[in-house]
Amino acid sequence: MGERQGAVFLDRDGTIIEEVNYLKDPADIQLLPGAVEALRLLQERYPLVIITNQAGIARGYFDEQQLREIHRHLEQLLADMEILLAGIYYCPHHPEAGSFRYRQNCHCRKPKPGMLKAAARDLALDLAKSYTIGDKLSDIGAGKNAGTKTILVRTGYGRQHEAEIARSQLAPDYAADDLPAAAAWILEHKH
Ligand SMILES: [Mg+2]
Ligand SMILES: [Zn+2]
Repeated sequence: MGERQGAVFLDRDGTIIEEVNYLKDPADIQLLPGAVEALRLLQERYPLVIITNQAGIARGYFDEQQLREIHRHLEQLLADMEILLAGIYYCPHHPEAGSFRYRQNCHCRKPKPGMLKAAARDLALDLAKSYTIGDKLSDIGAGKNAGTKTILVRTGYGRQHEAEIARSQLAPDYAADDLPAAAAWILEHKH
């Protein structure tokens, strides 16, 4: 068996696509400026895995079938640009909202590391060689809890959350203005 490789874990909303509150219409998917170029560069070296909290399901704003439709659409948009995702993992839960099945203290909701660990198992990844990119404290927490390096992007909620994150115990390894800057840092960083 070959050596396990690292991956790049990416938050979805505010990191790859425009932050839309509880996105439920595939037509509202809008890739952030430079996202396509950044993903294209990263995928030459790393499998790309999206990890996304989708508590809109627990809250009843949309269902899992609608979410899968959105993800099919996103994957198609990216495939048209020759970007192939290794996986999309989502957490449909919320600890307090929603009904049985979705209302639970799960292991997948970021900042817990469950989605990254599941992907590492499914795709035979080395988390210590991996990176997590996101715009929220919960992304940085999940990445750290999984043992990856972490990058905050100042898109989405990133800029407004940056001070809070800097004060927390969860300072990211790097803060980048956007996904292209995060990709450049990863590719220079080389482990
Ligand atoms: Mg986000
Ligand atoms: Zn969950």
